[in-house]
Amino acid sequence: MTCHPDSSHHLNVHLGDGLYAALQERCRRTGESASHVIRQALADALDLEHHTIYQVSTSGALVQGVYQGCVRVAEVLQHGDFGLGTFDGLDGEGILLDGTCWQACGDGTVRQAPADALAPFWVATRFSADHREVLKHVASWGDLTARLDGLRDNANLFVAIRLRGVFERIRYRVACKAEAGVDLVSATSAQATFELENVAGTLVGFWTPSFARTINVPGYHLHLLSDDHRHAGHVLELQSHELSLELHRENHLQLVLPETPAFLNADLSGDPAAALARAEGDHR
Ligand SMILES: [Zn+2]
Repeated sequence: MTCHPDSSHHLNVHLGDGLYAALQERCRRTGESASHVIRQALADALDLEHHTIYQVSTSGALVQGVYQGCVRVAEVLQHGDFGLGTFDGLDGEGILLDGTCWQACGDGTVRQAPADALAPFWVATRFSADHREVLKHVASWGDLTARLDGLRDNANLFVAIRLRGVFERIRYRVACKAEAGVDLVSATSAQATFELENVAGTLVGFWTPSFARTINVPGYHLHLLSDDHRHAGHVLELQSHELSLELHRENHLQLVLPETPAFLNADLSGDPAAALARAEGDHR
């Protein structure tokens, strides 16, 4: 075993014919590299950051208008390949999918987020589904969340959620850049909303237990990224004939708190749940 200055390590491991053939077969089937498959399997076996949420700042701080970015996108990518968030100054909506970070902008465009972009709030994980099923005839956001509620066996663990399919109808919003100190309810009252029909895409997000409402958005929080990467935002309402659902249970939270003056001086003692429901829900 050799140790390199870039802190990556090279292992020389002997594999039997059976294991080696299985590895080759897996790579052929999925297109993954052998290194990727081995790293993933080792992380799984050692339970390394596997059911961990890496989070930047808190929902309570966001409600108070603490929008100054404190962690770079490149750093978030070190801790997850899946998640959502926002950017410095509440400048749009963030989507992290398959290791790429996207920024939905207030004018409706989508771009790959620059690695040095700063995030004031972010939730990320290494997504690895531990439950899969197909949801047919999803009539609305309320219908979707009721069905997801029915699949959950407890109210106290976080869940990462990935949904893929064609949305016959989907409504989403994109936050527009806000002045520092403007609270989240006021800032999102000026948000841009978009409605699309028959768009193929993925919803990326989380279910957060009620007890964690000062940290994350309680309940369901999902962001859309269309397959063509042209449409993205915070989902408000939807309808779909068929969605592939994947759930990933999370029992470990790594919380990174900003040391910005705004965060240090914010009063975070209140319960932000009502303000979050107003700022993040659909009130058309
Ligand atoms: Zn959102």
